Amino acid sequence: MLSDEELLRYSRQVLLSQVDIDGQLKLKASRALIVGLGGLGSPVALYLAAAGVGELHLADFDSVDLTNLQRQVLHDTASVGMSKVDSALQRLAAINPQVKLVAHRQALDEDCLAAAVAAVDLVLDCSDNFGTREAVNAACVAAGKPLVSGAAIRLEGQLSVFDPRRPESPCYHCLYGHGSEAELTCSEAGVVGPLVGLVGSLQALEGLKLLAGFGEPLVGRLLLVDALGTRFRELRVKRDPGCSVCGPAHG
Ligand SMILES: [Zn+2]
Repeated sequence: MLSDEELLRYSRQVLLSQVDIDGQLKLKASRALIVGLGGLGSPVALYLAAAGVGELHLADFDSVDLTNLQRQVLHDTASVGMSKVDSALQRLAAINPQVKLVAHRQALDEDCLAAAVAAVDLVLDCSDNFGTREAVNAACVAAGKPLVSGAAIRLEGQLSVFDPRRPESPCYHCLYGHGSEAELTCSEAGVVGPLVGLVGSLQALEGLKLLAGFGEPLVGRLLLVDALGTRFRELRVKRDPGCSVCGPAHG
């Protein structure tokens, strides 16, 4: 059941026929893991907390640096030097005290990651490196949990949803596992704040759709954002039957 206070707090989304009270109850009963509390993880955490997702599990082993504040809007000047998880706990609890927050302050090794993924209904990968993305994907495939994956660098962003519960869905490795160009991070290549805000907001939206069960998720599609030209493109992406992570030999 939803209290009067919850009905009021969430009234603008409960008003939508696609969400309604049923959808809000599903959000309240849901648990989501956010990997990375940086530029992408900021809007993801803020919007999922504000929307009333029941439990948010927050994973980041980094602390807030002054150079983060240009885009990582979850954190503020007073939290420089503080762990990103602790900074996030303060901010999210202030936004919505009804959300249960679970902290992962250490880097997650394979076993810890598997346990963290098994404990939730949905994973949002907001990390900034290939190794973490591959590890998170493998854990999601193994546990059969949907993964909302976002990335942004310089003036380009990418977004897709991988859902191992759907037989036609590719996984992250199907798409990116064949070795790409040398890995760059935002600290080396730069990035504009609103672009990570945009991609992270889309990740939050896909997350709400998956958890509340409305709309058509971005499964089997890769959304490309060109911030310079203000253009969105979409590519069809297929499951790779020979994929070493989700292929039949490993599924
Ligand atoms: Zn795959």
